[in-house]
Amino acid sequence: MSNVTQVVLATGNVGKIAEMTEILAPYGWQVTPQGQLFDSEAEETGLTFIENAILKARYASEQTGLPSIADDSGIEVTALKGQPGIYSARYSQDLYGEQATDQTNLQKLLDELKAVPKTQRQASYYCAMVYVEHAHDPIPIIGLGRWYGEILAAPQGKGGFGYDPIFWVEELNKSAAELPKAQKNRMSHRGQALNSLVMQLRRGA
Ligand code: IMP
Repeated sequence: MSNVTQVVLATGNVGKIAEMTEILAPYGWQVTPQGQLFDSEAEETGLTFIENAILKARYASEQTGLPSIADDSGIEVTALKGQPGIYSARYSQDLYGEQATDQTNLQKLLDELKAVPKTQRQASYYCAMVYVEHAHDPIPIIGLGRWYGEILAAPQGKGGFGYDPIFWVEELNKSAAELPKAQKNRMSHRGQALNSLVMQLRRGA
């Protein structure tokens, strides 16, 4: 596969759409978020980031007949044995049902870690990024990324989305929500995964 021209972004998450569109901008592809083409969403029934990203990519291609790129990502907290992991977007649904938001997810994570000291608050964001040429593509292209940090005791910064205000980036002395967009995209799990994917596509993987 090599001649990418038009591709669907298989996500409805506005934070992800903004980051992925910006990272893909230099490549000159026509990139369309799935929400502009259809309304429904794939069911995330996988047990791994990769499985869920493949499910989302296949679904978007099935709905549109176009190649698609899907991201599945989340935050893994060492003190919580890797939770919330693949359930990051739905972390507080046990408390709030369909009313759960990024804000309630973040607050639940802070509450869970209330008694955990600073030295034991390691976490990482993980991202699997998948490209499929069509819904039944037997050779999905996969890029992976991981970004290490720590969970703060209180939110800091207004940028980014999701858990960014409580994700501390030690080497920059800032939370992910305090980083300029371009800097987050250079360092982040999503930036790493998408750049790896693009390199493979450009090589004709
Ligand atoms: P997904 O849409 O099922 O992949 O869920 C991803 C969830 O992980 C998001 O809703 C956020 O809660 C979290 N997440 C993933 N990447 C980021 C990020 O870059 N910043 C903040 N939260 C993120």
